[in-house]
Amino acid sequence: AISIRNLSKNFGNKRALDNVSLDIERGEMVALIGASGSGKSTLIRHICGLELGHSGQGKVDVLGSAIQDSGRLTARARQMRRNIGVVFQQFNLVGRLSVLSNVLLGNLGRIPSWRGTLGLFTAEEKRAARDALARVGIPEVAWQRASTLSGGQQQRAAIARTLVQRSDILLADEPIASLDPSSARRVMEILAAVNRDEQITCVVSLHQVEYARRYCPRTVALRNGRIVYDGPSSELTNQMLVELYGANSEELI
Ligand code: ATP
Ligand code: MG
Repeated sequence: AISIRNLSKNFGNKRALDNVSLDIERGEMVALIGASGSGKSTLIRHICGLELGHSGQGKVDVLGSAIQDSGRLTARARQMRRNIGVVFQQFNLVGRLSVLSNVLLGNLGRIPSWRGTLGLFTAEEKRAARDALARVGIPEVAWQRASTLSGGQQQRAAIARTLVQRSDILLADEPIASLDPSSARRVMEILAAVNRDEQITCVVSLHQVEYARRYCPRTVALRNGRIVYDGPSSELTNQMLVELYGANSEELI
């Protein structure tokens, strides 16, 4: 579903991604772990075409087509983004709109500037949005303003929006970083269920290896923009993390 070849990215003289190559098959659930600044968000932003690699090198293919090649977005990139749902750590929702409207926006892949968004959608789309909210366990908040939701509810609403979007790939950048443990587990369970039931390929960046082991069969670990581990999450021991990350391993264990 995702194929990355020789992708590098500098910000000034800081190397954020260093010759990353990575293949993720359709239907996989992959954790992306690494200490703060290791390149997790940068990698995710490259997969959805929000960031471009070094000019003249590197390639990112999504679902069989290039989204970026040699530091340029491809002509198909805009269209391809519709197939990629993204959930961030925060600011996923438009606070002044209802939760239902936010979920419905998954149909558009963009945020309209006018008010009264609900009138834009068919009854069938509204039903699908309500179904998606039920699916993530928060049907009762449909008419609430998004700004009034708890952190965990916001993440669930953002996942519901990607379900409405019918994306084939779900990229979640630290979706549980600001949540308490029980909300974090709930969000991870929902992601795992979406991955299993809908065959949506999931890439989830996480700060703690514990959640990777519990919910993701495969872990990719980054350090200083390089992949330092790629394999079964169950085989990534705390001892290996200490060896790979030194003092930073405390952040992950
Ligand atoms: P965290 O766990 O803190 O979210 P991360 O693994 O997501 O960290 P990135 O945000 O990908 O790390 O950052 C990787 C490196 O690139 C860091 O050194 C960061 O400072 C740098 N960086 C990322 N985005 C930019 C930017 N827009 N401008 C300058 N430097 C950036
Ligand atoms: Mg990040």
